[in-house]
Amino acid sequence: MLNNWIEKNKNDFLVEPNLRDYESAYSSFKWEDVEKEFEGLPSGGLNIAHEAIDRHANSDKAENIALLWLGEKGERDSFTYLQMKKETAKFANVLKSLGIVKGERVFTLSTRVPELYIAAIGIFKNINVLCPLFSQFGPDPILQRMQSGDAKVLLTSKNLFNKKVRPMMEKLPQLRYIILIDADEDENEMILSLPKLMQKASEIFEIPTTDPEDMSLLHFTSGTTGMPKGVVHVHKAIYTHWMTGRYVLDFHYDDNYWCTADPGWVTGTSYGIITPWLHGITNIVDESEFNALRWYNILQNEKVSVFYTAPTAIRRLMRIDNEPTKEYDLSSLRLIQSVGEPLNPEAVIWGVEKLKMAIHDNWWQTETGGIMIANFISQTVRPGSMGRPLPGITAAIVRQNDNGTVTEITEADKDGDLALKPGWPSMFRTYLHHEEKYKKSFVDGWYISGDLAYKDEDGYFWFVGRADDIIKTSGHMVGPFEVESILMEHPAVAEAGVIGKPDPFIGELVKAFVSLKTGYEPTDELKQELIGFGRKKLGVAVAPKEIEFQEKLPKTRSGKIMRRLLKSREMGLPEGDTSTLED
Ligand code: ATP
Ligand code: MG
Repeated sequence: MLNNWIEKNKNDFLVEPNLRDYESAYSSFKWEDVEKEFEGLPSGGLNIAHEAIDRHANSDKAENIALLWLGEKGERDSFTYLQMKKETAKFANVLKSLGIVKGERVFTLSTRVPELYIAAIGIFKNINVLCPLFSQFGPDPILQRMQSGDAKVLLTSKNLFNKKVRPMMEKLPQLRYIILIDADEDENEMILSLPKLMQKASEIFEIPTTDPEDMSLLHFTSGTTGMPKGVVHVHKAIYTHWMTGRYVLDFHYDDNYWCTADPGWVTGTSYGIITPWLHGITNIVDESEFNALRWYNILQNEKVSVFYTAPTAIRRLMRIDNEPTKEYDLSSLRLIQSVGEPLNPEAVIWGVEKLKMAIHDNWWQTETGGIMIANFISQTVRPGSMGRPLPGITAAIVRQNDNGTVTEITEADKDGDLALKPGWPSMFRTYLHHEEKYKKSFVDGWYISGDLAYKDEDGYFWFVGRADDIIKTSGHMVGPFEVESILMEHPAVAEAGVIGKPDPFIGELVKAFVSLKTGYEPTDELKQELIGFGRKKLGVAVAPKEIEFQEKLPKTRSGKIMRRLLKSREMGLPEGDTSTLED
């Protein structure tokens, strides 16, 4: 079977999809060419579910594993593309039979179990809108998002429902059904058992005509800089997903791919559900939370070839003093990509030393829907750089002028706003209920990302900080990332979060919050040593003047350091929205 497949798809197999020649790939790229990679719906239009699952199920990939699930207690389950086609058809039929019509929102609140992944695709099939919530949210953030997203259906488990949603039911009058993944029986006409519904549902579902501009996903941002925003995406976003799967994640037909992100965050849907299936490969899902030993075992035992994770996880792996390549057989692993926060150069170097490969940083946002800037596998990684723009993406460093115009900064190494030329397929279509805010993010023909960066003379982009986090000290603009990365070079430092503390003389004073590696004590001597270390490496103007040790830095549940919380706590101000703060 496999040999026949290889024979038939030999060309695909032999083509090296990655960007060997960046310049020519960039200049010759056309989005219209990506269109040819899709089959289109028999009924007309473009639907994520058809391109990700059904078209493979109808081909000789039908028996390939689409989803390999690893349960928290050591369970294993797998689904072929054909099985996924049938299961997702059943869930689409469930929604249809309940009278849930095109455009209505279906929320999910679940740990990473197969039903969540089946439901996601079933939701796309019925042209409903998927709104995934992180299962560890407390009741308030859940309520807030379900109200603002106009939830019609909630897919969840008995436990999560009883603990977090049942007490608030009267505040959710628009909610029509709750579907419980693990209930054997319906509770009443509204609270239904998923197994019972699935038992009755047909395995055949014809996806209705889908406009590529039909809404597919409503995703809330991470809340790192403020109130999480509801970001609207459409089916057409798969152009970006497919393209980045090819050029950044370098998918080949036999890849075992593992993305550690939860679908509660955009990485967990764009790259934890959609992209690997567009490429017809095996998508590994681990139900459990971070555990270094478990992770190394998964990389080894499941022969993971492409691994997509986040700086927070890499920093946790770095804390352990071990020799992973000696202790585990990681010979299948050929690419590690990272996203979500700046990846400190130290982490890239750790990867080279300990995992025998550089970790590739890439940049994007909930708003961009997919990867926009990346270090490509075929090119030398520049530690600390986010890489170069994807083909089809125009990225620039710009300055916003007072008169509402924007000037592109073409000079190398000059900080400015990181901006993108609008029009890429996975660009968000609005901020839910905040059309004004959406419009404001486009200025003079550019999308202003809210991040600051600079570009070097070879066109590599370097992250400086979020516009909100930039520190103004004695007439200098200091990006926290630079200071944090230097502190991380010190052997005692596990993590650092840097803020500007208001100061009557110098505007803001650079203050660093530092968590230490095991074996180091938070002494005054170490504080002085770190201040000296910073001065030597960064110069007096930029180096932190104050250091405070903290056992754990405040982070979002997706693992991003919340500098705004460090700052408001420092200043004794209200903490603002903390719905995404890790426990
Ligand atoms: P909110 O918008 O609610 O404050 P958020 O911006 O953290 O939250 P996301 O859309 O999940 O929400 O994250 C996108 C942001 O994460 C980017 O704008 C950037 O600040 C940061 N980021 C992502 N990848 C990278 C990277 N490779 N290097 C530096 N920063 C990154
Ligand atoms: Mg943001």
